[in-house]
Amino acid sequence: MTKAKRLLITDRLSQAAFLLLQEQDFFQIEKTPAPEITVEQIKGVNVLLIRSRTPIDEKLLSDARQLQLIVTATSGFDHIDLKACEKWGITVMNTPSANVNTAAQLTWSLVLACAHHLVKAHAQVKAGFWNRDLLIGQELEGKVYGVVGLGRIGSRVAEIAEAFGMQVIAYDPYADDERFRSRQAERVSYEELLKRADVISFHVPLTKETSGMLSSSQLEYIQRGVILVNTSRGAVIVEQDLCQALEKGWVGSCGLDVFEKEPLSRSSSLLRLQNVLFTPHVGANSLEAFHKASEQAASKIISFFRDGTTSDTLPPKAAWYGL
Ligand code: NAD
Repeated sequence: MTKAKRLLITDRLSQAAFLLLQEQDFFQIEKTPAPEITVEQIKGVNVLLIRSRTPIDEKLLSDARQLQLIVTATSGFDHIDLKACEKWGITVMNTPSANVNTAAQLTWSLVLACAHHLVKAHAQVKAGFWNRDLLIGQELEGKVYGVVGLGRIGSRVAEIAEAFGMQVIAYDPYADDERFRSRQAERVSYEELLKRADVISFHVPLTKETSGMLSSSQLEYIQRGVILVNTSRGAVIVEQDLCQALEKGWVGSCGLDVFEKEPLSRSSSLLRLQNVLFTPHVGANSLEAFHKASEQAASKIISFFRDGTTSDTLPPKAAWYGL
């Protein structure tokens, strides 16, 4: 085993993960004062442990001759120029399974908040009103839940829908039949999902195919009054079209964690609507997800240098990647 690999940590990391790395006798650990790093800081470094606040581009890598590995303790990887990493022979890994429960739980928080008008109800009581007739909720049992993208998060969301006694239908052209069977989800076309579902949530990556996949032409199919939730990527939905569908009451209520442009502009017409619940891209934000991502990242680094093992290498080896 080669001694003293220089490991640069650029962002938050759990103490347990830090200790795990420290226990190994083959890392010389350094931490940067801020997540953004310079060419000077990266010179001579063998491994980088980052999160999304550390952008990695071609310029930064041009002088990083010793860099063998980058591990990002996140599921997103838009902050890394993967082509540049490939060019310089740098292995890149992420931790996509760490925030599955958190993202699924947030999705369901938004669904339930919509089903019971929780935001309006809260505002009413705080303002000294007490009008239950304005707050008629809906039971989900027996209704149809439409999952768009039956991957890690979509699958977990589907399991929870089962627990609520809902019938799960899903659209995912890249998932095999076994995945649908094991999640007890009926495979349907996108159009059928939009027509049949009482609740719809999006769990797709942002690709050329998924960009704007919900616009006015699809919003015409949906069941009137549907609950719609997006915790995937903002650009999957055309916000202006969604806004109109909400105004017309085609979409009953909506929970959004992600937006076409983040942070959401204060002039966004969505903000004028009463039937939208917003969160500021917190689908991966929980203490547990932070600990899991930190520990998985540390373990990946250790395995890589101990026996050359890799997992969740980037770019993803998925049929939809690069579309
Ligand atoms: P995943 O890769 O496990 O699953 C994505 C699924 O989408 C795959 O099964 C894939 O086959 C499917 N898919 C790809 N193209 C499709 C298409 N055109 N139509 C329908 N399905 C398609 O990803 P995941 O870990 O479940 O994450 C899902 C999304 O959630 C990603 O966009 C991710 O970036 C986002 N995410 C957001 C947060 C947040 O903070 N809000 C947190 C975690 C993940």
